[in-house]
Amino acid sequence: MIKQNLTNIVARIEQARLAYSSHQIIKLVAVSKYHTTQEISELYHAGQRAFGENKVQDLCAKSQALAHLPLEWHFIGTLQKNKISALLAMNPMLIHSLDSMPLALALNKHCQKLGITQDVLLQINASNEDSKHGFVLESSLEMYLQIQETCHSLCLRGLMTIGKNTQNTKEIDSCFAQVKRAFDMLPQADILSMGMSSDFEIAIANGANLVRIGSALFQ
Ligand SMILES: *Cc1c(COP(=O)(O)O)cnc(C)c1O
Repeated sequence: MIKQNLTNIVARIEQARLAYSSHQIIKLVAVSKYHTTQEISELYHAGQRAFGENKVQDLCAKSQALAHLPLEWHFIGTLQKNKISALLAMNPMLIHSLDSMPLALALNKHCQKLGITQDVLLQINASNEDSKHGFVLESSLEMYLQIQETCHSLCLRGLMTIGKNTQNTKEIDSCFAQVKRAFDMLPQADILSMGMSSDFEIAIANGANLVRIGSALFQ
Protein backbone atom coordinates (compact mmCIF):
# COMPACT_ATOMS: atom_id res chain seq x y z
CA MET A 1 0.00 0.00 0.00
CA ILE A 2 2.62 2.53 1.12
CA LYS A 3 4.90 1.22 -1.60
CA GLN A 4 2.21 1.85 -4.22
CA ASN A 5 1.63 5.36 -2.85
CA LEU A 6 5.34 6.09 -3.23
CA THR A 7 5.35 4.78 -6.78
CA ASN A 8 2.37 6.98 -7.64
CA ILE A 9 3.81 10.12 -6.04
CA VAL A 10 7.22 9.63 -7.66
CA ALA A 11 5.48 9.27 -11.06
CA ARG A 12 3.49 12.47 -10.49
CA ILE A 13 6.62 14.34 -9.40
CA GLU A 14 8.42 13.09 -12.49
CA GLN A 15 5.63 14.24 -14.79
CA ALA A 16 5.55 17.70 -13.20
CA ARG A 17 9.35 17.86 -13.29
CA LEU A 18 9.54 17.10 -17.01
CA ALA A 19 6.83 19.67 -17.72
CA TYR A 20 8.93 22.25 -15.86
CA SER A 21 12.43 21.28 -17.02
CA SER A 22 14.24 18.03 -17.69
CA HIS A 23 17.27 19.62 -16.00
CA GLN A 24 15.49 20.10 -12.70
CA ILE A 25 16.34 17.68 -9.87
CA ILE A 26 13.61 17.31 -7.25
CA LYS A 27 13.95 15.91 -3.78
CA LEU A 28 11.09 14.23 -1.98
CA VAL A 29 10.88 14.57 1.79
CA ALA A 30 8.29 12.21 3.28
CA VAL A 31 6.48 13.97 6.11
CA SER A 32 5.99 11.30 8.74
CA LYS A 33 4.58 13.51 11.51
CA TYR A 34 1.34 11.54 11.99
CA HIS A 35 2.90 8.15 11.38
CA THR A 36 4.66 5.40 13.27
CA THR A 37 8.23 4.15 13.01
CA GLN A 38 6.71 0.98 11.53
CA GLU A 39 5.23 2.97 8.63
CA ILE A 40 8.46 4.95 8.18
CA SER A 41 10.38 1.70 8.03
CA GLU A 42 7.97 0.40 5.40
CA LEU A 43 8.52 3.50 3.28
CA TYR A 44 12.28 3.16 3.75
CA HIS A 45 12.13 -0.38 2.42
CA ALA A 46 10.23 0.94 -0.60
CA GLY A 47 13.21 3.23 -1.28
CA GLN A 48 12.52 6.49 0.58
CA ARG A 49 15.41 8.00 2.58
CA ALA A 50 14.44 11.55 3.63
CA PHE A 51 11.81 12.12 6.30
CA GLY A 52 10.39 15.27 7.85
CA GLU A 53 8.96 15.91 11.30
CA ASN A 54 7.43 19.05 12.77
CA LYS A 55 7.98 18.40 16.48
CA VAL A 56 11.41 18.09 18.03
CA GLN A 57 10.30 15.36 20.47
CA ASP A 58 8.94 13.27 17.60
CA LEU A 59 12.00 13.74 15.43
CA CYS A 60 14.21 12.68 18.35
CA ALA A 61 12.12 9.65 19.27
CA LYS A 62 11.74 8.39 15.71
CA SER A 63 15.30 9.01 14.60
CA GLN A 64 16.58 7.20 17.70
CA ALA A 65 14.21 4.28 17.22
CA LEU A 66 15.28 4.02 13.56
CA ALA A 67 18.98 4.72 14.08
CA HIS A 68 19.82 1.39 12.43
CA LEU A 69 18.49 2.74 9.10
CA PRO A 70 20.46 5.29 7.01
CA LEU A 71 17.71 7.94 7.09
CA GLU A 72 18.07 11.69 6.77
CA TRP A 73 15.86 13.86 8.94
CA HIS A 74 14.39 17.23 8.08
CA PHE A 75 12.85 19.56 10.64
CA ILE A 76 9.85 21.40 9.22
CA GLY A 77 7.96 22.72 12.27
CA THR A 78 8.05 25.70 14.55
CA LEU A 79 11.28 25.56 16.54
CA GLN A 80 11.19 26.73 20.13
CA LYS A 81 14.46 28.02 21.52
CA ASN A 82 14.42 25.56 24.43
CA LYS A 83 14.35 22.66 21.96
CA ILE A 84 17.36 23.73 19.87
CA SER A 85 19.88 21.54 21.72
CA ALA A 86 17.73 18.43 21.47
CA LEU A 87 17.21 19.01 17.76
CA LEU A 88 20.88 19.61 16.97
CA ALA A 89 21.83 16.44 18.87
CA MET A 90 19.94 14.50 16.18
CA ASN A 91 22.10 15.99 13.45
CA PRO A 92 19.24 17.05 11.17
CA MET A 93 20.07 17.31 7.48
CA LEU A 94 18.11 20.55 7.05
CA ILE A 95 16.01 22.86 9.20
CA HIS A 96 13.31 24.30 6.91
CA SER A 97 11.65 26.57 9.41
CA LEU A 98 13.95 29.40 10.44
CA ASP A 99 11.18 31.94 10.97
CA SER A 100 12.60 34.86 12.95
CA MET A 101 15.79 36.80 13.58
CA PRO A 102 15.92 35.92 17.31
CA LEU A 103 15.65 32.23 16.40
CA ALA A 104 18.49 32.59 13.86
CA LEU A 105 20.70 34.18 16.50
CA ALA A 106 19.88 31.54 19.11
CA LEU A 107 20.41 28.67 16.68
CA ASN A 108 23.67 30.18 15.49
CA LYS A 109 24.94 30.45 19.06
CA HIS A 110 24.21 26.77 19.77
CA CYS A 111 25.92 25.71 16.54
CA GLN A 112 28.94 27.84 17.31
CA LYS A 113 29.30 26.19 20.72
CA LEU A 114 29.09 22.75 19.14
CA GLY A 115 31.52 23.71 16.39
CA ILE A 116 29.07 22.71 13.66
CA THR A 117 27.51 24.43 10.65
CA GLN A 118 23.80 23.80 10.24
CA ASP A 119 22.00 23.96 6.90
CA VAL A 120 18.81 26.01 7.15
CA LEU A 121 16.06 27.54 5.02
CA LEU A 122 14.24 30.78 5.72
CA GLN A 123 10.53 30.16 6.12
CA ILE A 124 8.45 32.67 4.19
CA ASN A 125 4.84 33.45 5.03
CA ALA A 126 3.87 34.25 1.45
CA SER A 127 0.15 33.82 1.94
CA ASN A 128 0.18 36.34 4.80
CA GLU A 129 -2.04 34.06 6.85
CA ASP A 130 -1.85 34.85 10.56
CA SER A 131 -1.76 31.16 11.38
CA LYS A 132 1.55 30.77 9.61
CA HIS A 133 5.03 31.54 10.79
CA GLY A 134 7.80 33.08 8.77
CA PHE A 135 9.25 36.20 7.31
CA VAL A 136 7.13 38.37 5.05
CA LEU A 137 8.12 38.02 1.42
CA GLU A 138 9.19 41.64 1.10
CA SER A 139 11.83 41.27 3.82
CA SER A 140 13.26 37.95 2.64
CA LEU A 141 16.32 39.28 0.80
CA GLU A 142 17.27 41.70 3.55
CA MET A 143 16.84 39.09 6.30
CA TYR A 144 18.70 36.48 4.28
CA LEU A 145 21.68 38.77 3.79
CA GLN A 146 21.62 39.85 7.41
CA ILE A 147 21.65 36.25 8.65
CA GLN A 148 24.40 35.32 6.19
CA GLU A 149 26.45 38.19 7.53
CA THR A 150 25.89 37.65 11.24
CA CYS A 151 25.31 33.91 11.69
CA HIS A 152 28.46 32.20 10.49
CA SER A 153 27.50 28.82 11.94
CA LEU A 154 24.36 28.70 9.82
CA CYS A 155 24.51 27.82 6.14
CA LEU A 156 21.50 29.37 4.41
CA ARG A 157 20.44 27.16 1.51
CA GLY A 158 17.22 28.83 0.38
CA LEU A 159 13.54 29.26 1.19
CA MET A 160 10.61 27.23 2.47
CA THR A 161 6.97 28.16 2.24
CA ILE A 162 3.59 26.58 2.89
CA GLY A 163 1.10 27.17 0.07
CA LYS A 164 -2.01 29.19 0.63
CA ASN A 165 -4.78 27.17 2.27
CA THR A 166 -7.42 27.51 -0.43
CA GLN A 167 -9.03 25.50 -3.25
CA ASN A 168 -8.24 28.34 -5.63
CA THR A 169 -5.29 27.03 -7.62
CA LYS A 170 -4.63 30.45 -9.18
CA GLU A 171 -4.01 31.92 -5.75
CA ILE A 172 -1.73 29.03 -4.77
CA ASP A 173 0.13 29.41 -8.06
CA SER A 174 0.65 33.14 -7.60
CA CYS A 175 1.90 32.62 -4.05
CA PHE A 176 4.49 30.04 -5.19
CA ALA A 177 5.51 32.25 -8.13
CA GLN A 178 6.24 35.13 -5.76
CA VAL A 179 8.41 32.95 -3.54
CA LYS A 180 10.32 31.70 -6.60
CA ARG A 181 11.04 35.29 -7.66
CA ALA A 182 12.37 36.07 -4.18
CA PHE A 183 14.43 32.84 -4.20
CA ASP A 184 16.07 33.79 -7.50
CA MET A 185 17.43 37.00 -5.96
CA LEU A 186 19.27 35.23 -3.14
CA PRO A 187 22.99 34.63 -3.39
CA GLN A 188 24.06 30.96 -3.15
CA ALA A 189 20.55 29.65 -2.55
CA ASP A 190 19.94 26.21 -4.02
CA ILE A 191 16.93 24.73 -2.18
CA LEU A 192 13.36 25.88 -2.74
CA SER A 193 11.15 23.83 -0.41
CA MET A 194 7.49 24.17 -1.39
CA GLY A 195 4.64 21.85 -2.21
CA MET A 196 2.66 19.39 -0.07
CA SER A 197 0.18 16.59 -0.91
CA SER A 198 -2.47 18.91 -2.29
CA ASP A 199 -0.31 21.38 -4.19
CA PHE A 200 3.09 19.86 -5.05
CA GLU A 201 2.48 19.88 -8.79
CA ILE A 202 1.74 23.62 -8.69
CA ALA A 203 4.90 24.13 -6.63
CA ILE A 204 7.04 22.16 -9.10
CA ALA A 205 5.55 24.18 -11.98
CA ASN A 206 6.90 27.22 -10.14
CA GLY A 207 10.41 25.89 -9.64
CA ALA A 208 10.27 24.02 -6.32
CA ASN A 209 13.13 21.51 -6.05
CA LEU A 210 12.13 20.00 -2.72
CA VAL A 211 8.58 18.84 -1.94
CA ARG A 212 7.31 17.81 1.50
CA ILE A 213 4.63 15.17 1.19
CA GLY A 214 2.79 13.47 4.05
CA SER A 215 -0.80 12.33 3.70
CA ALA A 216 -0.61 11.29 0.03
CA LEU A 217 2.25 8.91 0.88
CA PHE A 218 0.99 7.41 4.11
CA GLN A 219 -2.77 7.28 3.42
C1 LIG B 1 2.33 18.41 7.51
C2 LIG B 1 3.26 19.22 6.70
C3 LIG B 1 3.54 18.86 5.37
C4 LIG B 1 2.87 17.69 4.65
O1 LIG B 1 1.51 17.94 4.48
P1 LIG B 1 0.57 16.89 3.66
O2 LIG B 1 -0.59 17.72 3.30
O3 LIG B 1 0.26 15.81 4.63
O4 LIG B 1 1.34 16.42 2.50
C5 LIG B 1 4.45 19.64 4.67
N1 LIG B 1 5.06 20.70 5.24
C6 LIG B 1 4.82 21.08 6.50
C7 LIG B 1 5.52 22.25 7.06
C8 LIG B 1 3.91 20.36 7.28
O5 LIG B 1 3.68 20.73 8.54
